[in-house]
Amino acid sequence: MARTTIWHPFTQHGVEPLETEIMRAKGAWLETTDNQRILDAISSWWVVTHGHRHPVIVDAIKAQADRLDQVIFAGFTHPTADTLANKLVSIAPPGLAHVFYSDSGSTSVEVALKMALGYWRGIGEPRTRIAALEHGYHGDTIGTMSAGSRGLFNATYEPLLFDVVRIPFPETGREQATLDALETACREAPLAALIVEPLIAGAGGMKIYSAATLAEMKRICTHHGALLIADEVMTGWGRTGTLFACEQAGITPDILCVAKGITGGSLPLAATLASPAVYDAHFSEDRARTLFHSSSFTANAICCAAALANITIWEEEPVMDRIANVAAMQLSHVAALAEDPRFENPRCLGTIAAIDLRVPDGGYLASAGPALRAHFLSRGVLLRPLGNTIYVMPPYCASASDLALAYDAIRSIPPDLTSA
Ligand code: PLP
Repeated sequence: MARTTIWHPFTQHGVEPLETEIMRAKGAWLETTDNQRILDAISSWWVVTHGHRHPVIVDAIKAQADRLDQVIFAGFTHPTADTLANKLVSIAPPGLAHVFYSDSGSTSVEVALKMALGYWRGIGEPRTRIAALEHGYHGDTIGTMSAGSRGLFNATYEPLLFDVVRIPFPETGREQATLDALETACREAPLAALIVEPLIAGAGGMKIYSAATLAEMKRICTHHGALLIADEVMTGWGRTGTLFACEQAGITPDILCVAKGITGGSLPLAATLASPAVYDAHFSEDRARTLFHSSSFTANAICCAAALANITIWEEEPVMDRIANVAAMQLSHVAALAEDPRFENPRCLGTIAAIDLRVPDGGYLASAGPALRAHFLSRGVLLRPLGNTIYVMPPYCASASDLALAYDAIRSIPPDLTSA
């Protein structure tokens, strides 16, 4: 394999073939430099929601670029960020009232963790213990890796990671064990916060759990005064069938992280929303109680314009109908695959579908992984299994024929890649 100037993410350049070069994109489709079309069946890492280059977002980006590109956000603000913050508060689960901008899912979670510790310090009762769910993924920075589950991805960095209280994942039928563990953790010593991906652990294997369990976790946290951080970086913006996954449990977290689809997936922006209590614990004449966080591009005006345009699309277009349509198609495709002995654990949540391929060696490094990716690409479909877990998470504009193509590619997996 050739050494490359660009060092790609999650890529072992020593074994992986040269990357596919994309020249343009539209809707659910990518187009390579040599004019091959590839279906973006994973929304480019769960980022793109409505489809690539939605005209309303493209126009908003152009218009904002003509007015204001970037301005320091400490001591300064701009109308696009102000309008967006108010919109975010109005559509988020009720009770979240303050918006802190950043630029990626990871930073939105880092900010959430800092807000939680700042809250406890601010109210004069310092708590620092963080609890997190097994199989969780919250990003690749040191703090978010600490909260995420441990394994191959972060073994090298382990000495730098801080300890969290690990709560067992609420597997179907074993939810009580999760709730009991959370209750015990809260009783053992005061917990600053529990961080969860609501309803589904994404990168940890597309593992789904019930809304009732999420509601119970919130109830236990509230009872013990622990904050609940909902990381909706993947689940937000309609992926699970509602605008935010927390809605399905009827809960409002104390802190909510959103990114990816906030701009429809067009530009990097993130936001951490906080309850009045969390904000008020920092609001003071004492400068030491400042939320000490910033990144250069906080609330970049062009990104904020893209986010406002995204919300306009939600308000003016039948986005929920598109989501329901994708969800229904996913259900029927996955039901059909479930009949096939090569697959197991079919599951769907809103627009997200996943199934496990029976392989001799499971896990992220399952030898089938790279071969599966190459197979899908040869069929004109971008799918990037998590080990032997194949998931389909298309943009909401995906048509019946788009999804049929994705599932044809899955059905045509060469026999030597499965153990069935
Ligand atoms: N949190 C969740 C639930 C995610 O799925 C991701 C990314 O996939 C992140 C955080 C990190 O987001 P980013 O890659 O934008 O830093």
